[in-house]
Amino acid sequence: GPAPEADTEAREWLARHTSGFGHFINGAFVASASARSFDTFEPATGKVLAKLATGGAEDVDNAVAAARKAQVSWARLPGHARARHLYALARMIQRHARLIAVVEAIDNGKPIRETRDLDVPLAARHFYHHAGWAQIQDTEFADHVPVGVVGQIIPWNFPFLMLAWKVAPALALGNAVVLKPAEFTSLTALLFAELASAAGLPPGVLNIVTGDGETGALLVGHEDIDKIAFTGSTEVGRVIRERTAGSGKSLTLELGGKSPFIVFDDADIDGAVEGVVDAIWFNQGQVCCAGSRLLVHEGIADIFHERLKRRMQTLRVGQPLDKCIDMGAIIAPVQLTRIEALVNKGVSEGATLHQAKIDMPKGGSFYPPTLLSGVQPTSIVATEEIFGPVAVSMTFRTPEEAIQLANHTRYGLAASLWSETIGLALNVAAKLAAGVVWVNATNLFDAAVGFGGKRESGFGREGGREGCYEYLKPKAWIGRKARPAT
Ligand code: NAD
Repeated sequence: GPAPEADTEAREWLARHTSGFGHFINGAFVASASARSFDTFEPATGKVLAKLATGGAEDVDNAVAAARKAQVSWARLPGHARARHLYALARMIQRHARLIAVVEAIDNGKPIRETRDLDVPLAARHFYHHAGWAQIQDTEFADHVPVGVVGQIIPWNFPFLMLAWKVAPALALGNAVVLKPAEFTSLTALLFAELASAAGLPPGVLNIVTGDGETGALLVGHEDIDKIAFTGSTEVGRVIRERTAGSGKSLTLELGGKSPFIVFDDADIDGAVEGVVDAIWFNQGQVCCAGSRLLVHEGIADIFHERLKRRMQTLRVGQPLDKCIDMGAIIAPVQLTRIEALVNKGVSEGATLHQAKIDMPKGGSFYPPTLLSGVQPTSIVATEEIFGPVAVSMTFRTPEEAIQLANHTRYGLAASLWSETIGLALNVAAKLAAGVVWVNATNLFDAAVGFGGKRESGFGREGGREGCYEYLKPKAWIGRKARPAT
């Protein structure tokens, strides 16, 4: 496939920023008040990609102050005027779709096929969808007011899409934002800031402060923020919940998962095998709702595993900008080491390891498609989120046992089940502890459908009407023709 250098537009964009990026505050890029910076790396080569600013207390202060000031007039705009801005952002994403897709693939290591066909179009769709809500906010949510200034912290696995999921509803409903992208993948957020500026978004409505967990913690602790919206690990989510307790801040948490992928004995086996490819090898398995626990009916386990192994052998791991690959690079060496350690642990706890014997790229962080079968439900690989291209498989005999195994987890984000019997599918779906259940499908997302978890996968929804309520506060008001103050 083509070398990563092949894409000139993205390389030129990066070259314009060789001296480093600043934060995006009050409509302009500014140097970090902290005077500190860090390098971001290209996962597929391990090479330095760009220099990013480390947000300190003063940077966060400046961003929050800009957001506070801008939010007042932003919220006063009629909904249809805010909608125009959201439509403009959506069109800007579409116009620069290729550049965003390439930068995302380089920065994250995921296949260009995914950024081009999923991340970027779904992000544009999110802005279009929420432009619609802005347009009807005055009638649909007449008894609600915006939350105010929102601090948003996002992970590295879907950098641009997670930005869209957070920024679109917040802005649509009259809030102002300070967003902190993940330290591994800040580039498409900064590119988006450039595009938003060019699209005429009023200064201060969207601010971006880069940095690591320390910068995130400053945002969480800032006293002039009304809400924190976080997507990331369950561990950090727990810390944020503790830190915001008693502060009066609203909080939504979208955390980890260990989602079951249940295959009944009457399932379309080839369809389900293809489903596994999407469930656990899409985005190298670095997906919060990845179908990482395969629960297969005992009666079809042998044939299912055989066909799955054959399919694994045809997957291609390669350079992110190669359009013919199925899997790209793992985000960083630290994550690769974690995956290797967990797989070794699984084997030492008795699982059988199967890895596709395929060509692997040299340099960079790559890991082959992997299957651990014969896993005990109590084994660490069956309970911990691996966040890599590793499927763990167990068998069951009855639907009751499948449900019990599926729900035997501290998480509850998603579930996928495969059966040709609609009665069985609906009955089981109703009993699964998950925020979303896919039937004969997996990893389907829609801007109009609320996505989120239960249990330790967090709380809050992104998308649809329920997602809008996360950025609104009810406000009772009494009086003839009175309107609520914002
Ligand atoms: P992470 O928790 O390490 O980091 C997420 C973000 O939080 C980053 O921006 C990071 O800089 C910041 N952060 C770290 N420590 C912080 C602190 N003390 N205070 C404030 N911010 C802090 O997670 P990650 O490794 O980037 O992402 C992987 C995790 O995200 C996985 O567990 C995955 O399941 C989860 N995830 C969940 C969803 C969902 O919708 N439920 C979606 C994507 C990813």
